[in-house]
Amino acid sequence: MSAMTNPGRRIPVARVVISLFCGVLGVLVVSWGLAEWVYRSVTPSHLSELKSFSDARLANDDGSATTFEIAGVRVFVVMSSRSKMQPAPAEPRPDFLPKWFGSVRPIVHDHLLLSGVESGWPMRAVRSRTRLEYTSTPGGPQVLKTHGRWDPPWAPWGTMRLSMEHPGLPWLPIFPGFLVNSVLYAAAAYLLLTLAVQFHRWTLLRRGRCPRCAYDLRHDLAAGCPECGWNRPSSEPERAPKEPGA
Ligand SMILES: [Zn+2]
Repeated sequence: MSAMTNPGRRIPVARVVISLFCGVLGVLVVSWGLAEWVYRSVTPSHLSELKSFSDARLANDDGSATTFEIAGVRVFVVMSSRSKMQPAPAEPRPDFLPKWFGSVRPIVHDHLLLSGVESGWPMRAVRSRTRLEYTSTPGGPQVLKTHGRWDPPWAPWGTMRLSMEHPGLPWLPIFPGFLVNSVLYAAAAYLLLTLAVQFHRWTLLRRGRCPRCAYDLRHDLAAGCPECGWNRPSSEPERAPKEPGA
């Protein structure tokens, strides 16, 4: 805060706060756009080209897990089907699944699907996870548990039958990716804001106005601004409001 004592080098607090807000918002929007783009562009032919795993530990009878990565976005799909309608013991998490997937358990229904996504650029920054059960009962698939996903009511996948396989809009932060991306985006926002402010000041100067308060100086810039004290000797109060009796 030592820079605050020097009036010539004040930290533009408002600009920093706006930049940080834009940075975090930008991380979410970019991550959502990337995840959505990957979900829309994946085709069965994609899946066959990409890495896929099968692990016997995943389910006693029939289980498979697929993970693929496009443009840095990771998608995990774990499918387990069972004919036995009884609880199964907790199964260990296969090595290739990320830690946030947790263990795969317990299964008391026909079909289970876990899907998850990790999205963000340049680092993966947010994630979501969905656990579904497909039962033979009417009503179709049912969401058991979701984690870190937002499904806005206007989302296009809300009306799809298998909408729950969609990752939603992931928002659970992944560290350090979330911080790194936020700082990068905030720095870019700060740079843009600074350029915009400088351009605004430059246009005011060109029109012969005070670059700080836009008061019309009629191109007499050397005399400074009588309104806000810009370009005036420091003996005069700078930016001080006119006090009665002063
Ligand atoms: Zn002024």
